[in-house]
Amino acid sequence: MENTFSLNDKVIMKKQHACGTNLWVITRVGVDIKLKCDNCGREIMMDRLEFQKKLKKVLKDEENKKEK
Ligand SMILES: [Zn+2]
Repeated sequence: MENTFSLNDKVIMKKQHACGTNLWVITRVGVDIKLKCDNCGREIMMDRLEFQKKLKKVLKDEENKKEK
């Protein structure tokens, strides 16, 4: 399965956060990926490989699709 993601995308992770949601927003894309919990606002960082492993789904905004 291929997942493409970019800044400000909303993503659903396989594991839910301690606050009970699994919806996150990508706030930084680099060597590491930074995610902000959509519910409680907590930010976490993980490397791309870990992110890809834990990622369940990217919620794409159709209008943002071609942005790079
Ligand atoms: Zn949270």
